[in-house]
Amino acid sequence: MIPQRLIIGPSIVEIRLAPRGVSRDDGGALCGVFIPTTKTIEIDVNRLTGMELADTLMHEVIHAMFYFYGWCAQEKHREESIASLLGTGLALLFRDNPELLVALLSLTALGQKKLNSALDIKSGLN
Ligand SMILES: [Zn+2]
Repeated sequence: MIPQRLIIGPSIVEIRLAPRGVSRDDGGALCGVFIPTTKTIEIDVNRLTGMELADTLMHEVIHAMFYFYGWCAQEKHREESIASLLGTGLALLFRDNPELLVALLSLTALGQKKLNSALDIKSGLN
């Protein structure tokens, strides 16, 4: 399940699933896009499934992090390359090592609270 919103830095970013795809301004198709003005990530759920969805979501989250944490690539292709590398790398890292997510959440009281809440939702206790 893809969350409807994420807290990224100081902002809440809405996640919109786009069953008709995501279009560029020039009419081309995108897998996903982060829109800073509306603080929105749109993901193409028509063409993408499984690992492609995870990769694209992480890719767009990284674009949002660049924006909210104030890193501005002078050359757009450098930001794109970094987002692609980290998006794929992190999606695979978390897929292959889910215990890492649990460990990261367990390191802080807030993370532990969120982990317990997620586990309650999964088990139907909430
Ligand atoms: Zn990108």
